[in-house]
Amino acid sequence: MTSAFLPFSKPTIDEATISAVAEVLRSGWITSGPKVQAFEAMLSEYFGGRPVRTFNSGTCTMEIALRVAGIGPGDEVITTPISWVATANVIIEVGATPVFADIDPVTRNIDLDRLEAAITPRTKALLPVYLSGLPVDMDRLYAIAAKHNLRVIEDAAQAIGSSWNGKPIGSFGDLVSFSFQANKNITTAEGGCLVLNNADEARLAEKYRLQGVTRSGFDGLDVDVLGGKFNMTDISAAIGLNQFPLLEAFTAKRRALAKRYFAAFGLAFEATTGAQLPPANFENSNWHMFQLVLPNHISRADFMAAMKDHQIGIGYHYPAIHLLTLYRERGFREGMFPIAEAVGRRIVSLPMFAAMDETDVDRAVSAVKLVLQ
Ligand SMILES: *Cc1c(COP(=O)(O)O)cnc(C)c1O
Repeated sequence: MTSAFLPFSKPTIDEATISAVAEVLRSGWITSGPKVQAFEAMLSEYFGGRPVRTFNSGTCTMEIALRVAGIGPGDEVITTPISWVATANVIIEVGATPVFADIDPVTRNIDLDRLEAAITPRTKALLPVYLSGLPVDMDRLYAIAAKHNLRVIEDAAQAIGSSWNGKPIGSFGDLVSFSFQANKNITTAEGGCLVLNNADEARLAEKYRLQGVTRSGFDGLDVDVLGGKFNMTDISAAIGLNQFPLLEAFTAKRRALAKRYFAAFGLAFEATTGAQLPPANFENSNWHMFQLVLPNHISRADFMAAMKDHQIGIGYHYPAIHLLTLYRERGFREGMFPIAEAVGRRIVSLPMFAAMDETDVDRAVSAVKLVLQ
């Protein structure tokens, strides 16, 4: 029996969502409108009443967060080398300087000791990423920020539904940015949202979202900051309004699938193959991804090709950012962040999405074991 190809990720879109999108399309109002407002209200309630604004990507959400925090030329922002390149690109986009600190080899997130050691008098903000949805030590992160008087812009793109001490990521802290790109745990096709501290920050975010327009001032419309075009459409918000109520079930499903992965790999897997499993965190992580670090005896490309032959899709998240050409041109070199470099070369994402079932996990694990033997 041949099995169908198992992708590494796939959005779960139900018929109610499809009907909701059709309803928006028929309504005569398809760009930002009542659905965006309702989606922002739904998210705000989840984040404990903190102000929330939506945007048309997670990337521009991050960029606007940096602008709201007043980050610009001359400022340094400390982040991780193991993330989607958007994390560092937005720092450059606002004219600031990305500073990397190496990762913790176990969590694969930024190492908070190294982060603190990278702080200089020019540091203005910390920009942690929660890879696979696993938060850093949030108490320690905010203690460091308070001690050095720094802003925190959380790239929680992968962490919707993750938590810390029982509180959702985003329901506390400084500026917290999420992505609703198609592969994220809940989606709006493309989109993102920013959790802010107060109404003034929310108004500023609205201006950056839409050409700097303010309704007060000259003839009832004025522009007093340089904004862009980053608003979410009602079509996307309608998807989000239907996805969000499923978040808890999606997260529970992903946790169950992760547990199945650990059970299927078994206790001897790391010792017999040399591969490294992710930390078995069932309390805080939303299990956005299930990532292995491969052993040295197989290249990532060979592993991915062999898994494809077994009808299993594998993702690559992510190569170390500082070794990408744009960053090498800014002076970064091999050897600067050795843990990130080693992990970046050998990290792979196994299939993980809410519509998978446990037999899919078993298939993926059997194939991994065959390929690594
Ligand atoms: C997805 C993602 C982004 C960017 O989000 P988009 O919505 O694709 O722009 C940024 N950072 C991380 C860590 C991500 O996973």
